[in-house]
Order: sequence, then C-alpha cells, then structure tokens
Amino acid sequence: MAEKYDVVVVGGGISGLSAAKLLTESGLNVVVLEANDRVGGRTFTVRSKQVKYVDLGGAYVGPTQNRLLRLSKELGIETYKVNEAEHLIHHVKGKSYPFKGPFPPMWNPLAYLDYNNLWRTMDEMGKEIPSEAPWKAPHAEEWDKMTMQDFIDKICWTNAAKSFATLFVNVDVTSEPHEVSALWFLWYVKQCGGTTRIFSTTNGGQERKFVGGSGQISEKIMERLGGRVKLRKPVVRIDQSGESVVVETLDHELYEGKYVISAIPPALGLKIHFSPPLPPMRNQLINRIPMGSVIKCIVYYKETFWRKKGYCGTMIIEDEDAAIGLTLDDTKPDGSFPAIIGFILARKCRRLTGLTKEERKTRLCELYAKVLGSEEAFHILFAMRKIPDSEIWKPEPESVDVPALPITTTFWERNLPSVPGLLKLIGFSTFFTSVAVAGLFAYKKGLLVRN
Ligand SMILES: Cc1cc2nc3c(=O)[nH]c(=O)nc-3n(C[C@H](O)[C@H](O)[C@H](O)COP(=O)(O)OP(=O)(O)OC[C@H]3O[C@@H](n4cnc5c(N)ncnc54)[C@H](O)[C@@H]3O)c2cc1C
Repeated sequence: MAEKYDVVVVGGGISGLSAAKLLTESGLNVVVLEANDRVGGRTFTVRSKQVKYVDLGGAYVGPTQNRLLRLSKELGIETYKVNEAEHLIHHVKGKSYPFKGPFPPMWNPLAYLDYNNLWRTMDEMGKEIPSEAPWKAPHAEEWDKMTMQDFIDKICWTNAAKSFATLFVNVDVTSEPHEVSALWFLWYVKQCGGTTRIFSTTNGGQERKFVGGSGQISEKIMERLGGRVKLRKPVVRIDQSGESVVVETLDHELYEGKYVISAIPPALGLKIHFSPPLPPMRNQLINRIPMGSVIKCIVYYKETFWRKKGYCGTMIIEDEDAAIGLTLDDTKPDGSFPAIIGFILARKCRRLTGLTKEERKTRLCELYAKVLGSEEAFHILFAMRKIPDSEIWKPEPESVDVPALPITTTFWERNLPSVPGLLKLIGFSTFFTSVAVAGLFAYKKGLLVRN
C-alpha cells in the first residue's frame, strides 16, 4: 500500500527541502525522498575535531543571492566575510603579481584593451538574454550553436585574454570552454550579476560563507520538517498514468502524491523510469546536460603566514602544470584553523582524480610555496495552487544585511576600442597621415597650387 501525500518531493538538497518547507507552511502534507544518507546534496559540511567544520560542496554566498540569504537568516545561520583585506596574487608565466580589485590589472596596452573588451562584450550580450527565457534572446540560436571556446577565439586577440577567459569559464562553471554553449554561459553569468560580480570576493559571489557551514541550511529545514524527510530512499520509478502519481524507491516502497516535485540535477533523471515516458524534448535535455568537475582542497596551516606577507590568500593561477586555478583564505571567522582552499577545476580535475590525497597535498603545498614565495606553505598541520504563479516569480527583495553595491565601469572601460577597433583606428590614421604627408610633399614640390 502506498503512503498518501499532497506532494512528493524527490531530492533533499536545498531546492527540494526549501520547496517542502514552503508547502508544509502552506498546510500541505509533504514527503521528501532523499537517495543519500544525509540531506544537503551538493552542499556538504563535514565536522571533525581537526578542522571543526568544513564545506566540501557549495559554500559561498554574496549580494544578489537574496533568497538564500533570506532563508539562512530565517534559520538563524550567520554569514561572515571571506578575508580579502590584503593583496591578491595573479600568478602567470611563473611569476606572482600582487594586486587589489576583482581582476588582475593588465600592463600590456593591447592585452588591457582585449580584457576590457571581453568583459564588456560578455556583459552587453548578457543584457540581451531574458532571465526566465534565454531561448527568446534575439541571437539565441546563433549563440547556442557557439561554444564558449568559439566565442573566446572570436573575441580575444591576445593569448593573455584567451588564457584568462579560459580560467574564468573553468572557475565559474567547472567546465572547459568547448563543453558549454555560449548562450548558456552568458545567461549563467548574467544571472549571477555579470562578469565582475561573479568573479569578485568583496561585493561578489565569494563575499561570504556561513558560520558553521552551509550544510546547516538543509539540516535545519530537515529538523523543522520532522519525519517528513526520508533518507536512503533513491527514487527509481515515477508513474503518472493514473489519477495520482506513484513514486517507487529502490527498496520498493511506494509513495502516492497529487503532485511530484523533482529537485534533482537534470542528468540524474536518467536513472528514473517514467510512465508515461517523459516528453521527447525533456528526454533529449536530460541526455545532454553534463555536470562539471571540481575538487575542493583545503590545506590547514599553523598560522596565516600569507597575511603576514601582505597577501589575503586569493591566488589566481594561470599555469597548465599547476593543479589549482584559484585559491581563497579559508580560515575560520574567529581566526582559528588557518587554511587555504584551492579549486582543482574541469580538465585538471579529470587529470588528477587518480592521485592519492597525499600526492595532491604535496603538489598543492609545492605550488603555494612557489606562488606565495614562502617555505611556510610546506608546513602542513592538518501546482496545488496554494502558491499563485505571481508568488513563484515574485522578485525577492534585496537582503538588508548583504546589499548588492553597484558595479561601476569607468568612462575608459566603456569607450576604449577593442584590439581590432584599435587596429582599424590606426589603419585610418595611417591612411590620413600618409595622405597629409603626400599632400605636404606635393605642395613643397609645387605640385599643389594654393588658390
Ligand atoms: C564543489 C561545489 C562547490 C560549489 N560552490 C558553490 C558556491 O560557493 N556558491 C553557490 O551558490 N553554489 C555553489 N555550488 C552549487 C550549489 O552547491 C548547488 O547549486 C546547490 O547545492 C544545488 O542544490 P539543489 O538542491 O538544487 O541540488 P542538489 O544539492 O544536487 O540536491 C539534489 C538531491 O537529490 C538527491 N537525489 C538525486 N537523485 C535522486 C533520486 N533518484 N531519488 C532521491 N534523491 C535523489 C541527491 O542525493 C541530492 O541530495 C557548488 C557546487 C559544488 C558541487
């Protein structure tokens, strides 16, 4: 006999649990079926004596993530700012350059124009893409046929901009530029507030973390939902052929609902048998929507030696042989457990999955010692209509605690030419200069007579 509910939610990550919370608060009888032996999904806080707590999955939250900020505040979970007081480091061609601000400065004028044009073009294209219907963008088909690699090759002229653009894609979506559609990536960046917002710590996506870890969000919702969350219940079948929907788990339990909410990553829908089958377009989608690849590595130190050297712990590393593309300070907000977190991304992640933990640790410490110029990096210590459509699409008011400060651009950033633009200008001015010189020459030789 199936247990009967108003709504069966598949997946106990933040999405599924917050949906269940909302529906339960609206007076509905809801059950959440979670495959794993814990809630949280792609957020995962591990607790231990050695590190107190550490986020191995999603961890950062910043201005514009107003729904998550509201939810976490309601659950009594505080945020703290990731350290960015000292200088950041851009490590490129084997050298480390300290800097401040969201992006490393470019001293080569051509590279500067190229960078500037890259960010400006991505943000301008993003403005054309409707948030709720990216496929309705005027150039949707053209941009969707293009990969980000095609886009980078088209827009960037200098190797410096091409290489940084690749890292930018790696960091933002843990994939390679050739793996993602330009339309999807540009939409994703736009949704996160644009190129500067998504890449920034201060006033951006990496501004804050949750005191005690992001896993608490799901854990606290589970507490509130009481027995309505069932762990170790992978859903394997969803049968919608009758009046209600019957959901079957791997251990042959049946749950019946008037509605089902699927809150699992789309690709995992492939593991579920649907009756009747999913519509063809949905079937095609779940076959073609791969996940990215990322390993978070946290190295604990005796002290925050990088801060003493004037560095905040952020390292942007452009080096094909380096495992890590980006690091941040991961010290606890009270200054305890000094740590650097590094991200192994996309192609590098796939290359390095075979290494043991010890091998990874050695490689990372060698890299940090090189980038920070410090031996200390080696010393490792350790639709029931309960909610109207207007509610679903209701814009979330901005968080009072974490407001999104405007991201401004300078006159020059807006108006400087791109590299091809500059070449055209030089071409024109060369042409006019040549005409003027020829004219002067002709005048001097008496070939041109003044009236
Ligand atoms: C390493 C990493 C770092 C990240 N960093 C950030 C960050 O700093 N900031 C940020 O905003 N985002 C970050 N993200 C993304 C963020 O974590 C995710 O967007 C978010 O957690 C997704 O939540 P969700 O509930 O939609 O999906 P998930 O968390 O994937 O939850 C889906 C749940 O469904 C369960 N499930 C799957 N199949 C079934 C089935 N058949 N039956 C029952 N249950 C099933 C899964 O076990 C899982 O618990 C990061 C992600 C990763 C992996």
